Order: sequence, then structure tokens, then C-alpha cells
Amino acid sequence: MSKTHIAVFPFMSKGHIIPLLHLSRLLLLRRGVSITIFTTPATHPFISQLLSGDDVTITTLPFPANIPGIPPGTESTDKLPSMSLFVPFVNAAKLMQPSFEEALLNINRSNESHPISCIISDGFLPWTLQTAARLGVPRLSFYGMGHYAITLSRDAVANGSLSLHESGDEPFNLVGFPRIQLTRNEFNDPFDKPDPTGPHLDFIIEAITSTNNSFGLLVNSFYELEQPFADYWTRHCEPKAWSIGPLCLAAAPPPKDEPSPSHNPKWIQWLDRKSALGDSVLYVAFGSQAKIPPAQLREIAAGLAAAETSFLWVLKKSEFAEFDLEELLVSERGMLVDEWVDQRQILEHPAVGGFLSHCGWNSVMEGICAGVPIVAWPMMAEQFLNAKFVAEEIRVGSRVKTVDGSAKGFISRESLKNAVVELMEGQKGKEMREKVKEVAEAARKSMAEGGSSSLALDNLVDAIRSHNNNTIKISP
Ligand code: UDP
Repeated sequence: MSKTHIAVFPFMSKGHIIPLLHLSRLLLLRRGVSITIFTTPATHPFISQLLSGDDVTITTLPFPANIPGIPPGTESTDKLPSMSLFVPFVNAAKLMQPSFEEALLNINRSNESHPISCIISDGFLPWTLQTAARLGVPRLSFYGMGHYAITLSRDAVANGSLSLHESGDEPFNLVGFPRIQLTRNEFNDPFDKPDPTGPHLDFIIEAITSTNNSFGLLVNSFYELEQPFADYWTRHCEPKAWSIGPLCLAAAPPPKDEPSPSHNPKWIQWLDRKSALGDSVLYVAFGSQAKIPPAQLREIAAGLAAAETSFLWVLKKSEFAEFDLEELLVSERGMLVDEWVDQRQILEHPAVGGFLSHCGWNSVMEGICAGVPIVAWPMMAEQFLNAKFVAEEIRVGSRVKTVDGSAKGFISRESLKNAVVELMEGQKGKEMREKVKEVAEAARKSMAEGGSSSLALDNLVDAIRSHNNNTIKISP
């Protein structure tokens, strides 16, 4: 059987790297597959601690230096001082194209019997399409988003729905899904403007065009979860989409049998104590990117205090200074953690009964797969659409109401408290908990042998192999 050597290039951001490493792990389970992951020197340690093996190579490419606005040594978006530097950052990443191509050609020269068969590229690296074309191999694009967010965005933009109203809070119905109402403020910059223009829009157009001209789109979701939206894509859009998730189910299993519980991180030991007391804990985490204004942080802290529920909150040390929860921490009602945690290990812990989340798509998938209902407080990117999906489409969570009713508005302690109490203690919370367990079971089935996502991945590997068998390679 021919060998299949796949180049994987994740965008330098935790939420993009993690699922592509899960995907790599899944691909490596298929016979004859080897993987080369491309990244930058500063990101290498994060990748190497999550994925290693005989058939995995991690190749580093220098991140361009002296980019105006980007502090020296910043090679991932979570280290950017502000997300307003996103466009300079993606434009800097474009300058990696020559070194990426050189590295691929070197691989092909030194492994003539085992050349690169395919490039799986983050959608935020659109220029990898040219590279794939030069090598004569297919490119697969990965956005790290679900079908719902991709489809709703496509439908709203393509049908001009975002410029229908003067006000960003005025609802409109989608043309492709008339039952779904959205507001422009549920979209991220630049689509929250009535007449978007500028470099961010130019970049998004470039990324979409590159994906449209790729061999396929990989979606971190499973068909049964998002059927109408996956079908919409198949009917109206290019290229072919493969639903191959939830990829978090391919993560190395969370460590369960440490030699002694005292080897576990302190937050897991704390959860163990909560479990022994029969206490149900709200896990609070807003991903790797969020920068929350101090006044909003103080209000969240006050809302958690008022909800009278136990909570484990992962946040940055600099954010601790904004509020004082000392009394609750001393009484062990709450715990604050300012380290990188294994989020899946926390969500899988029996003490965790709810998840207050920003609704990054990875966090949504991880919450669902752990059977934990979600209180959704979206902040940016496609998180508003993910939150809508969680609360209104699959009903495994609820959304915190903002003070002014606008998607990006301030949330008060009162509304946070109400959403948390309802989820942790109320009848609606009970229903969401039952529903999310059903969805978790369906997710597991889709990833198990013979399940829809597992079959889709088999089909994808076959498609790459037959594409390469049918393509006459031209030496560059
Ligand atoms: N994550 C983690 N530990 C942390 C913080 C984040 O494991 O301390 C992981 C989380 O489990 C998820 C990813 O980082 O897989 C964050 O991705 P998501 O899409 O949820 O949000 P983003 O960070 O992109 O906003």
C-alpha cells in the first residue's frame, strides 16, 4: 500500500493548534499515514508535548521579525497585546510561504519514495493553496468552526442580510433558514458594520476564496449534530466538506489513574473534595484569547458570588487584581487557577455540573462531549453564533442576557447569577443536562468505528490517495 505523508500547518493560536493535533492523532491511526507538522520555534514546545511518535515530525519555520506592531518573540495570537493586531499577524504569517515551500521541497528530495501527499492547512493560512498547487497535491482547509456558524455566516453575507438595517441590533431572518433570526451585532468585525471594507475584510475574502478552491473543507463536528447546515453546504457551496469530529474525542485520555491522587493538579484534588461532598461545581473559562475589561471581570466575580454555587475559574493572574473573592476562596466555595489546565480533564470530572463558557468552538465540543450543559457568554469571533447554536438549536445551554439586549453588551451580576442558578439548580438546567448527555452519546457513536465521522475520515484518506494516484506529478 502506498504511503500517505500529510503536511499539517495549524494557525498559531491554541484554539486552532489543539484540534489539528487531535486530527493528526486520528490520521496516524490509519495504516500508512505519516505526518509532518509545521509551526514556529516558540510554538514548538506546546505541540511536542501534545503529540509525538515515530510517524510524526515537527518542523519549525522562523516567524518573520520586525513586523510593525507585533512585539518581538510573539508567534501566536494569544500572546498579541490586542486582537486589533490580528491582520498584521496574519499578513506576517504570509511571509513564511518561501520557507514553507523550501521545507516541503527538502522533504520531497530526501524522501523520494515518501513525498508529501497532501497539505492540511488552517484556513487562516490561505497562501498554502499556491504551495499545494506548486507541489501538485491537494489542500484541505480547516477553520475550526462548526457547520452552523459557517453556514449562517455564508447565508447572511451572500444574501446581503447584514446591510438590511441601520441598527446592528435590529433582527433579520436568514434567507436559507427563515426560522432563524440574527442581528448584525452577532457577527464579528468587519461584518458587524453595515458596509464592511478594509484589510480585515480583504483577508477574509482571501481565506474564503482559497478554501473554495481547495480540495476539501474539514469540519470539527459530526453530521448528526448539524445535519441541516451540513446539507446546506453540500447543496450550495464548494468544496466538499467532511465532518470528522468532535476531534476532542481523539485527545489522549485525561489522566485518571495517577499513582496517587496527590500527583494530580491542585484543581483536580479540589474537585475530588467537592465530589466527595456531593457538591456540583460550575467550571468557568473563557478560552485562550479573551481580554475582558476590568469592570466586566468585577461583575462576573460578583455574579458568581451571588449565585451561591461552587465554582472553578481559570483566568490570568493579572485579572485576579480586579476583584476580591477572598472570603469564598478561603471557605473553598470557589477556586481560581492561573495556569494552563487540561480543560477536558476538568470537564470530565464528576464534580463538574455546568460550564460558563465564551463558546469558542473547541470549548463547546468539549463541554458537549463531557455531557456538561453550558451557560454561554460569547465575546468575539463566531462565538455568538456558537452560543445561539448551544442555546436555541440543540438546547444544551442558555445564554446570559446582556444589560442592553445587544449581543456584545455588558452583562450584569444579576443576569449572570440568574443564568447560573437556572442551569445548576433549575428545571431548565435539568432538561439541558439530560439533553447534553444524549448529544454526548451521539458524538461518541459518530467517532467510534462505523460512525459517521470515523467513516468520513476513512473516506477522506481514500480520496487523498486516489487523487494522488490519478495525478501526474511534475517535479518543481
Ligand atoms: N484550553 C486548555 N487549557 C487552558 C485554556 C484553554 O486546555 O487553560 C484549551 C481548551 O480546552 C480548548 C482551547 O484551549 O481546546 C481553546 O479553544 P476555544 O475554541 O474554546 O477558544 P479560543 O481559545 O480559541 O477562544
